[in-house]
Amino acid sequence: MQNLHRIKQDICDIGRRIYNRQFAAANDGNITVRVSDNEVLCTPTLHCKGFLKPEDISMIDMTGKQISGRKKRSSEALLHLEIYRQREDIKSVVHCHPPHATAFAIAREPIPQCVLPEVEVFLGDVPITKYETPGGQAFAETIIPFVSRTNVMILANHGTVSYGETVEQAFWWTEILDSYCRMLMLARQLGHVSYLGGEKSKELLDLKAQWGYADPRNTPEYENCDICANDIFRDSWASSGVERRAFPAPPPLKDSDSSASSSASNGTSGMGAVNDDEALVKLITDEVMRQLQQHA
Ligand SMILES: [Zn+2]
Repeated sequence: MQNLHRIKQDICDIGRRIYNRQFAAANDGNITVRVSDNEVLCTPTLHCKGFLKPEDISMIDMTGKQISGRKKRSSEALLHLEIYRQREDIKSVVHCHPPHATAFAIAREPIPQCVLPEVEVFLGDVPITKYETPGGQAFAETIIPFVSRTNVMILANHGTVSYGETVEQAFWWTEILDSYCRMLMLARQLGHVSYLGGEKSKELLDLKAQWGYADPRNTPEYENCDICANDIFRDSWASSGVERRAFPAPPPLKDSDSSASSSASNGTSGMGAVNDDEALVKLITDEVMRQLQQHA
């Protein structure tokens, strides 16, 4: 027999962490835990996730109907229920609007791979869903093409959703993702992103397999693929408006690639803005020098 009160307390704890990390402004975000085949604990709508009490948590069934609780369930519960329907192993879902990951959702910029070891092992490739108006079943179904191949998704122009066997685990993936997105943006401001080479990335995927974490890149389908350059969710990009604009594609994997890192900041399309600026500055400097010399 599960201790429902304990689970409700866990939901409140994660709500506090979500709010304190500024992953959900005002009353944003929602958390659920599936406690039986047809019973899901759900956070209330119009209630700040930073100040939840166990008695605020309601119970809904798998159609979204509220079974118990005095506060109205979240308006985004259908998204959670669709994940439970598609993934029997999942017991908890966390949805919020963490600013750095959501910036990628707004820019519709795919999350670069083969940059940080922990991200490769814990998250793998992160998809961006197609945009849909939040709340309804059509919105809930935007996760279907990806849900079996990842534990965290970016919802286009909206936020993130992640899921796991416990509410804390469901939250971890969001926290790792937002932290990663923040680091990527900071590194880009410095002007350079170094990618792990194919060989080192393969070592991480091997570790991941050893530790029992599933990753689509470890399936036969992707066996001879360039794991860094071939985003496994690439097929969905065109229909979702996702395109590499800010970050370049990782350099192609060469057979002789034995270096631990390879650079991708020069000459490739994504970092064009930085390189164009540099080229412009050089052009102007050269012209000024030429004119100075003429008038000397
Ligand atoms: Zn939302």
